[in-house]
Amino acid sequence: MSVSAESTILRPFFGLDKDMLVKALAEAGEPAFRATQLMQWVYQRGVTDPAQMTDISKVLRGKLESWLPIEVPKVEREQRSEDGTIKWVLQIAGGQAVETVYIPEADRGTLCISSQAGCALDCSFCSTAQQGFSRNLSASEIIGQVWFAHHALNAFGVVPRPISNVVFMGMGEPLANYSAVVPAIRVLLDDFAFGLSKRRVTVSTAGMVPFMDRLRDSVDVALAVSLHAADDALRNELVPINRKYPLADLMGACDRYVRDTDRRTHILYEYVMLDGVNDQPHHAKALARLLRGRSAKVNLIPFNPFPGTRYQRSSDAAIAEFHHILINSGVRATTRRTRGDDIDAACGQLVGQVKSRQSRRLGDRPLPSVTEQPLRQMTVSQ
Ligand code: SAH
Repeated sequence: MSVSAESTILRPFFGLDKDMLVKALAEAGEPAFRATQLMQWVYQRGVTDPAQMTDISKVLRGKLESWLPIEVPKVEREQRSEDGTIKWVLQIAGGQAVETVYIPEADRGTLCISSQAGCALDCSFCSTAQQGFSRNLSASEIIGQVWFAHHALNAFGVVPRPISNVVFMGMGEPLANYSAVVPAIRVLLDDFAFGLSKRRVTVSTAGMVPFMDRLRDSVDVALAVSLHAADDALRNELVPINRKYPLADLMGACDRYVRDTDRRTHILYEYVMLDGVNDQPHHAKALARLLRGRSAKVNLIPFNPFPGTRYQRSSDAAIAEFHHILINSGVRATTRRTRGDDIDAACGQLVGQVKSRQSRRLGDRPLPSVTEQPLRQMTVSQ
């Protein structure tokens, strides 16, 4: 079927990886090289107004807005932490909102993005779980977070670190929204878009086993697995998806993910430290037994409390001892420094849904207007 060049494509630009964009443009009779031109304008120069895309024909420029609308997210709220962490609450269609967090560190700038509004997995220690599941984000809404943060950080001028890493550790379970997450990952990795290194894009999953295999076969990114317990009984309680995909299945998928590749060196196992629940020496020994011989690195995350939770953060001494047992057993481990606690931007504290526009906090600051000005920083890769 031939489609007239006058037809309306109407696909949100941010949702298209390069191949999808080439195809969409071809439907309108446009050559493939337009795709890379457009990507460079939008992602590398931050230009979303077709009128400014000077090397593109006037006729095409005129059509772009209705063919490939660029949906720049609107900001509901911005909060800055003492430690440089910035949290944005971004509006998405349907009156919902999601959270995106920028975390500057000495050697990197990490953006933590959301893949769903809410979450259906119901992990017992996570505040996102408490609000339930609203809907999947589109690929456009996922990339919109990165485009927005990149652009906003540059608009502020003084940025300690540009975005060098993107982690799918915000709201939602990325592998439960696989069909949107994969094209978004392709845009993050594409040299004509954000050009991030594949080791610097991390998908974090609570253990959706079939999609771990599909991910391995379709894109090359780092994988983090939210383990939190080394035995099925405890993990069933903390991460209920374990009832569907128990540890034996999960570890099998982890082994397959790193097998036969020299690019993915290990899986990052996240382990939230819950006082008296999973933080005892015998838990550490069981974890070490589970991971021995595997390509693994453990990241211990001190629990971040939120109103209404029944859990408490493990003591520093318990975390240090747990860490020590892992290291002594030959398991690589780090303890995550909690960032952005003063603005509820830490792991598991993202709630997104803005209940009332009146509920702005004292820490809020006015935002600079985000217009179509060119980015000062051309690329976020390192
Ligand atoms: N659904 C994905 C990604 C989102 S959560 C996943 O489960 O991996 C990102 C990380 O934050 C996960 O390891 C999650 O278990 C952890 N987390 C959730 N709530 C937390 C809390 N209150 N304190 C500390 N970490 C938490």
